[in-house]
Amino acid sequence: MQLNDIQLKQVDAQIKRLINTDSYYGKMYKDMGITGVSSQEDFEKLPFSSKADLRNAYPLGIQAVPDEDVVRIHSSSGTTGKPVIIPYTAKDVDDWATMFARCYETVGITKKDRIQITPGYGLWTAGIGFQAGCEKLGAMAIPMGPGNTDKQLQMMIDLKSTVITATSSYALLLSEEINKRGLKDKICLKKGVFGSERWSEKMRANIKNGLGIELYDIYGLTEIYGPGIGINCECGTGIHYWDDFVYIEIIDPVTGKTLPDGEKGEIVITTLVKEGAPLLRFRTHDISRIIPEKCPCGRSYPRIDVIEGRSDDMFKVHGVNMFPSQVEEILRDVDGASSEYTITIAHDEDNNRDIMILTVEGEGRVSFEQMSKQITALFKSRIGVTPKVTIVPVGTLPRSEKKTKRVTDYRS
Ligand code: ZN
Repeated sequence: MQLNDIQLKQVDAQIKRLINTDSYYGKMYKDMGITGVSSQEDFEKLPFSSKADLRNAYPLGIQAVPDEDVVRIHSSSGTTGKPVIIPYTAKDVDDWATMFARCYETVGITKKDRIQITPGYGLWTAGIGFQAGCEKLGAMAIPMGPGNTDKQLQMMIDLKSTVITATSSYALLLSEEINKRGLKDKICLKKGVFGSERWSEKMRANIKNGLGIELYDIYGLTEIYGPGIGINCECGTGIHYWDDFVYIEIIDPVTGKTLPDGEKGEIVITTLVKEGAPLLRFRTHDISRIIPEKCPCGRSYPRIDVIEGRSDDMFKVHGVNMFPSQVEEILRDVDGASSEYTITIAHDEDNNRDIMILTVEGEGRVSFEQMSKQITALFKSRIGVTPKVTIVPVGTLPRSEKKTKRVTDYRS
């Protein structure tokens, strides 16, 4: 998908503004002799921006406006090394809320809804994004933040929450608790808006049936405003994104070449109107594709497909590249397996080989031995790797309020 005339002018204006600042990217573009863009070809010659740049610019090197125009910062949780700090102007904060409110509207949430917000507040962009969008829309925010399941359920019942926003793993935990405590007929939830991690079809079905709600995936990342730059519609076919605020291209993660619509690769995002920290061609490491066809819902906002995984979630065993999504696809086809699993990888020095241990929860309908045999056979035929499989009862593996860690790698 090419930049349209408006988008091209917006990118050009951002570059012209940036090179007049002392910001990290302003200096970089000046040094490279970049003065603007007037065509798609110019645009595709622009260097990528990356999380590594943002770390180099820590703490506020990417700030592209005077201090008096910055009203807030957010930070992305770096699991390794320095965090990343993103400064926002008042317009950035407002634009983000506008996008988020559009997400809620797209899935039929209205002013009359009561939105229980369980993602965390603070430096990261989750809780406050869900809240600002809710207030922009005019719905009632119930700003719980994470944890304290007893209180969550009490508020959900007493305040008659109609929408739950959460990470998918916390939604699964709430769903299991509601059913365990026999509270299902006391809750008024109709919809769930979830984000920030990949989730399998099986996990989706568990939450959907456990809570009896419609589920929607919200997309976004802290570096680009936060969650709220796109959401799937009632057709459930991909994620509409707001192309008046962001431009998305898909690239080959190895060569960096832009791929034609429909082909799978890494999502690269350009902010079109961001002031505090504009980012051009930011590499997200999320794997998806642009869906070329028009959505049956009739909306003209373009779509990306469900996020398949992250290029950095990939792990390698016996020289074979694997994504968590492939493991989830196998478990989906195994009768009696829950959505929850963990993978532990270690190296056996004596035999100089990698060992992969897969722990899966069994629902108890099918014998654990039979499940284990089936999983081993499916891994061998589909991926070419034979894991050691252990089946444990449902509820054994940890449920997390944040992102669930699936893969632990002990190889040095
Ligand atoms: Zn649609």
